Amino acid sequence: MLDMLAERIATLEESATLQMAALVRELKTKGEDIIDLTLGEPDFDTPQHIKEAAKMAIDMGFTKYTPVAGYLDLRKTIVEKLNRDNQLSYSTEQIVVSTGAKQSIANVVLSLINPGDEVIIPAPYWVSYSAITHLAEGKVVEIAATIEHDFKITPDQLEKAITPKSRLFIFSSPCNPTGAVYTIEELEGLVKVFRKYPDIIILSDEIYEYINFIGKHASIASLADMYERTVLVNGFSKGFAMTGWRLGYIAAPLWIAKACTKMQGQFTSGTCSISQKAGEMAMTGDMQPTKDMCAAYHKRRDLVFNLLKEIPGVQTNLPTGAFYFFPNISSFFGKTDGHTIIKNSSDMSMYLLGDAKVSTVSGDAFGDDHCIRFSYATSEEKLQIAMERIKLSLSKLK
Ligand code: PMP
Ligand code: GLU
Repeated sequence: MLDMLAERIATLEESATLQMAALVRELKTKGEDIIDLTLGEPDFDTPQHIKEAAKMAIDMGFTKYTPVAGYLDLRKTIVEKLNRDNQLSYSTEQIVVSTGAKQSIANVVLSLINPGDEVIIPAPYWVSYSAITHLAEGKVVEIAATIEHDFKITPDQLEKAITPKSRLFIFSSPCNPTGAVYTIEELEGLVKVFRKYPDIIILSDEIYEYINFIGKHASIASLADMYERTVLVNGFSKGFAMTGWRLGYIAAPLWIAKACTKMQGQFTSGTCSISQKAGEMAMTGDMQPTKDMCAAYHKRRDLVFNLLKEIPGVQTNLPTGAFYFFPNISSFFGKTDGHTIIKNSSDMSMYLLGDAKVSTVSGDAFGDDHCIRFSYATSEEKLQIAMERIKLSLSKLK
């Protein structure tokens, strides 16, 4: 029966993050004591004032289909936010609200990529960039960023990856999975290259904008000549702890916004009315909960960094945003605990799940098989125990 499926689904990679999350859920139901560091999901609850706005939206009758690109009021709020936080000026027609930033990215890629077009993606990258590109029959061109360079690419590497078929460049800063944040100077270095190749569109995924430990967020869209060719993607999942509400958006050149609206009009229509009203409150309301969450992540980052440094054989960068570590564990490849030989990141992730009872995601899903990813969006107490367990399990590998 499998043969009857379309080729696109047979070749589609399953989301490694969601796959691991499902496995952990299953093991936990069986009573296993697992510390779950799998998903990039805030452990905090959505701030109360946002929840209240959603309750009010239901009572006020915001229960009908919404405009495909989102309520005008929400789009106005997003325009104001982009002005206030990013000094970027958009019209409401340039904003398309979607069912999460993931859908925003899918809309953009499916709207821009023809079969055979090249999409340049610095690795390590977030899992869905490559999968969605493959779905659009585009060709992923990876640029390997190394831990020595804080997992950031250089202008030289970028230029070498460009060919006449290059159509789109996708990156996130702050980065999932590495926590790396490009400074404005580093972005300017990349932009110098992009200026020579005006046909390449930049998809700038800024969903971790508010989880930044080095100061002001820099958007590539704000650099000279970039506005006309950048699609800025952002959302509510991370900064406002709203993963379940499914709300993301793009701010884009009008022709791309129109294409994404057309695409979305055939897939999902406008996203949930109640979530949109909650999103409006998130953007206009008190930002203190967002700042408090960021401060908590910062403290956890320091805690985990200090513990990781103490584990022999593990190499890490110092993440400056988001809430992930992406340590290099390749020094253990070829070693064994007497039962399992660790050959790659997937083996390591499964070994840690079985032996340490700590769940991580293997780095190969993010385009770097030397590493594993774990999220530190969980309590300090759990993080402390998780690092102790990982240290003990790794010490058994000879
Ligand atoms: N981009 C990145 C880099 C992410 O980590 C995530 C996390 N899910 C998303 C996009 C999608 O976010 P959402 O669909 O929840 O808005
Ligand atoms: N972005 C999150 C992660 O990387 C959520 C999972 C997903 O949407 O793939 O873990």
